[in-house]
Amino acid sequence: MQNSDMQTVTDGPYLAGQMMDRPLTISSIMAYAADVHPTGRITSATVEGGRHSYTYREAWARIAQLAGALKSMGIGPGDRVATLAWNGYRHFELYYAVAGIGAVCHTINPRLFPDQIAWIMSHAGDRALFYDLTFAPLVAELGPRMPEGLTQVFLSDEAHRPEGAPPEVRAYEALLDAQPATFDWPEVPEEAAAALCYTSGTTGDPKGALYSHRSTVLHAMSAVLGVPQGFGAGRAILPVVPLFHVNAWGLPYACPLSGTDLVFPGPHLDGASLFDLMAETGVTNAWGVPTVWAGLIEEMSRRDAKPDALEMLLIGGSAVSTAMIERLEDFDIRTVHGWGMTEMSPIGTCTRPLAEGAGRAARIDNAIPQGKRLFGLEMKIVGDDGTPQPHDGVARGELLVRGPAVVNGYFNAPEASRLAFDADGWFRTGDVATIDAAGQLRIVDRTKDLIKSGGEWISSLELENLALAHPSVANAAAIAVPDAKWDERPLLVVVPADPGTGVDTDALLDHMRAHLAKWQVPDQVVVADALPMTATGKISKKDLRSRIADGG
Ligand code: AMP
Repeated sequence: MQNSDMQTVTDGPYLAGQMMDRPLTISSIMAYAADVHPTGRITSATVEGGRHSYTYREAWARIAQLAGALKSMGIGPGDRVATLAWNGYRHFELYYAVAGIGAVCHTINPRLFPDQIAWIMSHAGDRALFYDLTFAPLVAELGPRMPEGLTQVFLSDEAHRPEGAPPEVRAYEALLDAQPATFDWPEVPEEAAAALCYTSGTTGDPKGALYSHRSTVLHAMSAVLGVPQGFGAGRAILPVVPLFHVNAWGLPYACPLSGTDLVFPGPHLDGASLFDLMAETGVTNAWGVPTVWAGLIEEMSRRDAKPDALEMLLIGGSAVSTAMIERLEDFDIRTVHGWGMTEMSPIGTCTRPLAEGAGRAARIDNAIPQGKRLFGLEMKIVGDDGTPQPHDGVARGELLVRGPAVVNGYFNAPEASRLAFDADGWFRTGDVATIDAAGQLRIVDRTKDLIKSGGEWISSLELENLALAHPSVANAAAIAVPDAKWDERPLLVVVPADPGTGVDTDALLDHMRAHLAKWQVPDQVVVADALPMTATGKISKKDLRSRIADGG
């Protein structure tokens, strides 16, 4: 795609620079952290129970042992090594050891249906699978549907061998014990694949984003630059965003690179567990999707306190409601709103800090849009005919991106790859957005979620944001329903904040009418106990639409 159009220095009238061509590799990040940030810590809530804590230098030694173990298992360059695991130190070690020997760490989302997991493993051609104890029953269920000859390793010691696991299934700790704490790391070319993650595939088959060493290192450097208030020695980040989906938004790379401590929550992602872990480990900021933070906010409200050191949440994956930003401000917690995609490694944009002394209202306004682009990423919005639209904060269009951390195709999927780019090689995000003169991105909708009523577009995100500002509403989703006169009309589904009192739908609509043109106001409000969610913690509008169409 766009790479083939790129000029090299020998093509043109340029004078070649005389600098060394040293590869940007993933192992160089941890080698650097072990050297420069040796006392930086990784603390994990473990699957076995309890906590594990060690330094970046100690982690690097175990990563070397794991690399030796992988080699002894016959894993080599280009091989895909699958993981089914929570956020924990052993999963982190796999990230570095697998990529470090030139193989590919294929993280799998355990929340997918077993059939989807089997499909993904076979499409990826996985040679080995490392899994947390939690997922032993899932692995047993997958059984013969997994690729033939797959080497299996459970992420614990012999004492925790899962019941029924055949003897050829290895214990992770036993593999490491047999290896020295140093490894002769190969010099992997920076263009080599390092990690593989499949999109959740809301339409068609899941598609694999195959990250390279170079894209990963550049993304990590841009993330550190883009969120200066998040990273640095003395700070600790808790990724709730999973290591099994888009590399936990790059945190396993950006944290060691910047000397930031990491705190992994393991399997316990409820508000109370997160609160306790944050309070105990001095977490300064935490990253995840809005649904997770709703749980933490509930817990903070119950205790009327926040985890002491918590200063900021980075929230992305879905739009953050104004109500959530305000509630966090009540606890003196700042919001950094991020937007991105699996295909973008994933961070594209995020809220930038305001000057010292900015007040609450200014901070809230600043966090409502999806923020400004990270260094290296370029963005354009285009009309239906592909014409670029002005960056004036008003013109809306489909958002397209390009950059060194954006895919240039999908893994072994030529047809999907062909459809994903415009004629100039820009990647189609499928999001509809505006960009203002200061570079602020505002996502209006997904192209397929927009509601078109009488020829006019209605933003489902705007309707949801307004509904969430009403105190009786805990969660909301707006979808289009067919209409004989207007083609489509908006229907709003809401989950009550208090199931006992429910939602007064007339009062809710009055509240919304005050902020909307008449034709934008939903015709119908349905009150539901819960909304269907995807495997990555987003509202599944596809499932909601079929539920509503079926009369549910
Ligand atoms: P995924 O590849 O699963 O991470 O999903 C990427 C999609 O999630 C994007 O194309 C957006 O539609 C949506 N998304 C991610 N972050 C945001 C955000 N901050 N606001 C609105 N939508 C978002």
